[in-house]
Amino acid sequence: MALNEVMTPENPRWNEFADILAEAINAQDEPGVSDCKHDFSSTRKILTEMGNIDIEASINVFMENGGYCDCEIILNVDPGPEDEDFEEEEEI
Ligand SMILES: [Zn+2]
Repeated sequence: MALNEVMTPENPRWNEFADILAEAINAQDEPGVSDCKHDFSSTRKILTEMGNIDIEASINVFMENGGYCDCEIILNVDPGPEDEDFEEEEEI
């Protein structure tokens, strides 16, 4: 019996999930334009393909963090590279 993981930003596979999801809804190129159907259809498909994910528990976490559909997961749940606590400083 495999233990299913919950997909959260702390999950080691989060970036993999977020990348595929962003690509699936075209959120990466133009933030205002996406193919989001305002449901979790892409999320469910990706998590199913990744395997060993508790999809319902993961979606509950997304909703708790303001992600009520595929695009909102990218917008509100994904911490994104720019939110990380380091800044690129160029020192000469
Ligand atoms: Zn959406």
